[in-house]
Amino acid sequence: MSKVRTRFAPSPTGRMHVGNLRTALYAYLLAKHEGGDFILRIEDTDQERYVEGAVEIIYRTMQETGLIHDEGPDKDGGCGPYVQSERQKAGIYLEYAKKLIDKGQAYYCFCDKERLEGLKRTVAGKEITTYDKHCLHLSKEEVEAKLAAGVPYVIRQNNPTEGTTTFHDEIYGDITVDNSELDDMILIKSDGYPTYNFANVVDDHLMGITHVVRGNEYLSSSPKYNRLYEAFGWEVPVYVHCPLITDENHNKLSKRSGHSSFEDLIDQGFLTEAVVNFVALLGWSPADNQEIMSLDELIKRFDYHHMSKSPAVFDYTKLKWMNGEYIKAMDFDKFYEMALPYIKKVITKDYDLKKIAKMVQSRIEIFPDIEEHIDFFEKLPEYDPAMYTHKKMKTNAETSLEVLQEVLPILEAQEDYSNDALYASLCKYVEQKGCKNGYVMWPIRTAVSGKQMTPGGATELMEVLGKEESIARIKKGIELLSE
Ligand code: GLU
Repeated sequence: MSKVRTRFAPSPTGRMHVGNLRTALYAYLLAKHEGGDFILRIEDTDQERYVEGAVEIIYRTMQETGLIHDEGPDKDGGCGPYVQSERQKAGIYLEYAKKLIDKGQAYYCFCDKERLEGLKRTVAGKEITTYDKHCLHLSKEEVEAKLAAGVPYVIRQNNPTEGTTTFHDEIYGDITVDNSELDDMILIKSDGYPTYNFANVVDDHLMGITHVVRGNEYLSSSPKYNRLYEAFGWEVPVYVHCPLITDENHNKLSKRSGHSSFEDLIDQGFLTEAVVNFVALLGWSPADNQEIMSLDELIKRFDYHHMSKSPAVFDYTKLKWMNGEYIKAMDFDKFYEMALPYIKKVITKDYDLKKIAKMVQSRIEIFPDIEEHIDFFEKLPEYDPAMYTHKKMKTNAETSLEVLQEVLPILEAQEDYSNDALYASLCKYVEQKGCKNGYVMWPIRTAVSGKQMTPGGATELMEVLGKEESIARIKKGIELLSE
């Protein structure tokens, strides 16, 4: 068997949609799993949809996610150029379209806008144009005369109108369509550029692509592509169409969701590795349902035969969970570096920011969560004294007041405000009092944080706050409870 070759063929039309990233990832995993090559091809033949800067986004995303191509515009592997506009300029598409004309599988069409307008029909509420093969019947002389006179033209595929066409997709199985549904689609547009429909076939063949991985929006056109392969006498590649990605409401994942592109997710504080891991599971899962997998593990485990054809739901809650797992597993120094801007957003005081970072690493799902976990360090929030009442700790306003009043002189006398030293002093008090640990720690933690949930215990918080601030907050608690 020949070496597996897959490609990612994005159109530079804007941000990297999650669906595109998944296509790139699956094409990459498929190739790497088989020890094959992964090719990047830029499909920029639709001049109207071209967006400035989009090619850079593609390169940057591929680089950041680790989907490194073996061949592409910047890495010649002998199948170049790898940018379709350059291939068009080199005359590749026209050359192949002419070959089809010679075989009777394609033809020049000179119909103008008005004539095509007249072919429009409304079927099931949708406007469609099925070309009526008018120009197929022009004589050779008529065609030549029009070409010589410079009449604008397109080149159309000549599809049969009777019988059926069947093609095989690895995920969706055999799909058969009536040939009467196959329109004579345009292969070369009047601006001289090829359509996607034509260019994808020519390029995939010339670049030796063995497996075509793409979104299932191309499924319905694939019979026409098959006819092109057959007309040329080329081997049809293995088709792997990926399922639709929907939002939680089962609508197609769109810009409106606010997290439909890779950049959206990075802007929202997600880690690249977590996004890649999550995207890998949108339509595929390993047999044992393991969820956390690095790119290397994905390469080892990815098997496209186990892809699903049912729509994949983009579960934002799951992505957040997954991101939290990646944050927990991060090397602390790296975490600190990434967390620092978020910490500095809320903390201006001279606290030990590393200690704060250590406390939150295991508690957040995305970096912006940091803020709500640590804001109380900067300023004690207004809080409800009812928070001192805790059933399990057996505390209430009265017991808390007593404890705070009793620990205040201990904390005032304490010089060493390290967590360990504070903990030792308070444990001594707990022992003398003959109560449970929580009976003392709960009111102290409440007083120094003003919060129900904190990233650390009472003494850890006081270590960061320092003596002066801790005592001020204990006094504030006493005041509040005495009212
Ligand atoms: N240029 C097409 C797109 O961006 C690629 C489809 C394919 O992978 O063949 O949707």
